[in-house]
Amino acid sequence: MTTETPLHVLIAGGGIGGLTAAIALRQAGHDVEIFEQSSFSHETGAAVHLAPNSNGVLRRLGLKVEDIGAVECLGNDDYSAEGEFLESNDYGCSEETWGHPWHLVHRVALHITLRRMATGPEGQGQPAQLHLGKRIKYADPDSARLIFQDGTEIQGDLVLGADGVHSHTRKSIPGGDLTPFDSGKSAYRFLVPTSQLAANPVTAQYVSKPGHEVMWTKGSKKIVMYPCKGGSLMNFVVLHPSHESAHELADSSGAYQATGNKDKMIQIFSEFAPSVIELLRMADDQSLKVWNLLDLEKMPAFVHKKLAVLGDAAHPFLPYQGQGAGQAIEDGISLATVLPLGTPKAAIPERLQLYEKCRYERANTIQSNTRITGEGGGASSADETNFMNFIDYNFRHDEFVHSTEQLRKHLASVGK
Ligand SMILES: Cc1cc2nc3c(=O)[nH]c(=O)nc-3n(C[C@H](O)[C@H](O)[C@H](O)COP(=O)(O)OP(=O)(O)OC[C@H]3O[C@@H](n4cnc5c(N)ncnc54)[C@H](O)[C@@H]3O)c2cc1C
Repeated sequence: MTTETPLHVLIAGGGIGGLTAAIALRQAGHDVEIFEQSSFSHETGAAVHLAPNSNGVLRRLGLKVEDIGAVECLGNDDYSAEGEFLESNDYGCSEETWGHPWHLVHRVALHITLRRMATGPEGQGQPAQLHLGKRIKYADPDSARLIFQDGTEIQGDLVLGADGVHSHTRKSIPGGDLTPFDSGKSAYRFLVPTSQLAANPVTAQYVSKPGHEVMWTKGSKKIVMYPCKGGSLMNFVVLHPSHESAHELADSSGAYQATGNKDKMIQIFSEFAPSVIELLRMADDQSLKVWNLLDLEKMPAFVHKKLAVLGDAAHPFLPYQGQGAGQAIEDGISLATVLPLGTPKAAIPERLQLYEKCRYERANTIQSNTRITGEGGGASSADETNFMNFIDYNFRHDEFVHSTEQLRKHLASVGK
């Protein structure tokens, strides 16, 4: 017999994945608690891509990211390291091609909005409770318990591990005690006001097309620039071999907060043209970050008993296809879809298995395609075809529809 009793869902980690799951589960009518190690008082992060597949999910949950300053991605321009224009692509209307727009959004603005949607008084269902400063030590998949570093613990009906690339909850999945490793690349990240770039006669040429992502490439070094915050800021991701900036990272932990050294960044890109170096000179010394890009072996499973992992905890992404946030968002909606209000507690392990069935192949496929892109996809016409196939696979997907269909088949197979 089904019951309309809400499930008590414990979420480890309040990043983009954990918050999306919380919003979707709250809207489904469940009691949700989120446990986050930080105090969220020093929110950082530059900008992230929200491709049509992720935007579709967010729209379903009630968020149009253009309302929080997201910029539509309209095309890209490629330049050589010498600053010579190579080619430009216009993407046309993403909404017409892929069903939803493709946006570029300031990560902190997105995070604040998701937090409000998950925990604020407005919206469907009971607000999720957010507990800050709670660092998880261990998740018990048998009893659905979270054990914290401060010695306290809590029991729910199920645990969702959304605790990022250095996940502790992942370790409770057999074979999941994996250590992230250096992918070989790091990225400096910074934001520059677009008005500053436009006012400089050397760099003005690079910001002449609204909504365009611009890249300068030479071998393993690449500068990527794209707009966010209503187009008022340009986000820079400056990719380079990790050994060249290794000493700037206190350890190789992939921390998002490590401060970068501007002189070192300019030295690493010294073979690039003066007009390109001028862009790097505009980085603000105080807020320049350097970020080691970490990878992880494929997880043998995303689920064990009453525990499921999602987002970077399950499949940390390299940034080459802009799908890190998107796949965490898809995981979140999938979990809420397979756990509608009325799900009996006894069915939780099998529903989590269903979540894994919905998500495992897709997330791992995109993860491995992303590695291929990072190794030089786009450098030849064969790569270009590959890249377009990857984009189509990523963008032409509605995880809500997919998970709903999987749940329907599952219920039919168990005679419900
Ligand atoms: C501060 C920060 C800045 C980022 N900046 C960018 C960016 O500029 N561009 C980009 O593309 N991507 C960025 N990312 C990564 C991107 O947001 C994620 O890859 C993606 O959104 C997947 O989200 P996630 O929720 O799975 O993981 P994350 O966003 O990493 O969230 C995990 C959350 O879990 C918390 N957590 C970790 N361990 C514990 C623990 N033991 N107990 C309790 N809580 C824990 C973390 O504090 C964090 O809030 C950033 C991530 C963070 C945390």
